[in-house]
Amino acid sequence: MQHSDLSLYIAGEWRGLKGRSGEDVINPATEQSLGSLPHANREDLEDAIASATIAFEKWRTTPAAARAKILVGAARLLRERSEQIARIITLEQGKPIRESRVEINFAAEIIDWYAEEGKRAYGRLVPSRLPAVQQAVHKVPVGPVAAFTPWNVPATTPARKIAGALAAGCTCILKPSEETPATALAIARAFEDAGLPAGVLNIVFGVPSEISNFLIASPKISKISFTGSIAVGKKLTGLASENMTRVTMELGGHAPVIVCEDADAEVAAESIAINKYRNAGQICIAPSRFFVHEAVHDKFLAKFSEVSSKLVVKNGIEEDSEIGALANSRRLDAMESFVSNAERSGARLQCGGRRVGNAGFFFPPTVISDVSADDRMMTDEIFGPVVPIRRFTDLDETIFEANKLRYGLAAYVYTKSQARAALLSDQIQAGMIGVNHTFIFTPETPFGGVKDSGYGSEGGIEGLEAYLSPKFVSTLPQ
Ligand code: NAD
Repeated sequence: MQHSDLSLYIAGEWRGLKGRSGEDVINPATEQSLGSLPHANREDLEDAIASATIAFEKWRTTPAAARAKILVGAARLLRERSEQIARIITLEQGKPIRESRVEINFAAEIIDWYAEEGKRAYGRLVPSRLPAVQQAVHKVPVGPVAAFTPWNVPATTPARKIAGALAAGCTCILKPSEETPATALAIARAFEDAGLPAGVLNIVFGVPSEISNFLIASPKISKISFTGSIAVGKKLTGLASENMTRVTMELGGHAPVIVCEDADAEVAAESIAINKYRNAGQICIAPSRFFVHEAVHDKFLAKFSEVSSKLVVKNGIEEDSEIGALANSRRLDAMESFVSNAERSGARLQCGGRRVGNAGFFFPPTVISDVSADDRMMTDEIFGPVVPIRRFTDLDETIFEANKLRYGLAAYVYTKSQARAALLSDQIQAGMIGVNHTFIFTPETPFGGVKDSGYGSEGGIEGLEAYLSPKFVSTLPQ
């Protein structure tokens, strides 16, 4: 897959630009076009729904072990092609090539994990109240899925949705982000080459709201899975309610980080920085609002600023890049606006803060101290390499601050006290909590949020359950 071959993938056919409208895919490091992406027309979307519906009848009855073989085959091909796909990720998304390699290999691990877990979609037998009656609960695939993925992790997020759906016996129509299309197409190619029957996976692009309105309105679509912003997630959930279509919503976050007085401030700063600056902070679970106890605040701030200012900001395609371009100009504008707003209200810039160069969407790691509690960067998702740090003295007040927003995706706490770790893990409202570390994403653990951050989980047994429906069969043998 190359940017010169951008296409739709419907009913096992690769459909190019010919006769269709489309858009340019931009390299965020150079602002140059990488290629032209076709948009699906009405007929394409109808074909996608029809092929996912027809293929479902065969795929749902394909034994889980046979489905698993195809998934494992696709994962193997992704690993074999990882260098080529990593390049695609960096070119269209901007992240450093080293991170792109990690991402594509992680996507393969997710697919492997679902391949195995699909064999364990156990039902159960329930003792009956009536003599001789047999009560069985089967877990059946829900049906064709419409999935929507954003631009920030263009391999991992499609992999989670495709693998979860296919392992459960569902078929899938995926609309990846139009800004990072070639990565999802490379994943589809790996599935096709591994022997996936036509129609089980379909990939479409277009004007996002037009595609989602069309797919979600179809009664043939049984499940919606969306990763993206809260505003869009709420809209799609509303549309899904028309047909009572089940949803998984993995939406934005604004992860609080609480560093207590007994934490090793310097170790904490180094450990948090690694995850904060992955993909230049454009990760929904990135540490994002920092509350540091007064006793360790200055040490933490100095270390975090030192680590931040040493990171190499340059085109992600170069091997020594540590912070690549932001994915699009919207993120660059957002970072500039967050910083100027905070500076105007008296916050202190410790490092970074200004766009790097004037071609490509580069913004450096930026640390800002003495930020007020109601500053926009403390209340709105940042989704970029900007770090607001506040000092605190009262833990209860900080728990209140952490919980006062409608976000509830991830949170991080640093303390040596087991009692305090237990208290914070219990009281912080979030779907995922990291205590003394930030690596909280694995294929085998649930990934999802509470409150406005979403509904349902991807990953873990919950990720497979999302594509299964319980069917109760009660039999009186004759
Ligand atoms: P956006 O809301 O316009 O788009 C986010 C994603 O949703 C994109 O991939 C887009 O193609 C898709 N989308 C938009 N409208 C849609 C619709 N009606 N139907 C289906 N899909 C639709 O925002 P953006 O400018 O791309 O990103 C801004 C914000 O989105 C970020 O600040 C962040 O909060 C959030 N975001 C979250 C995640 C995540 O992993 N949860 C990922 C990317 C963006």
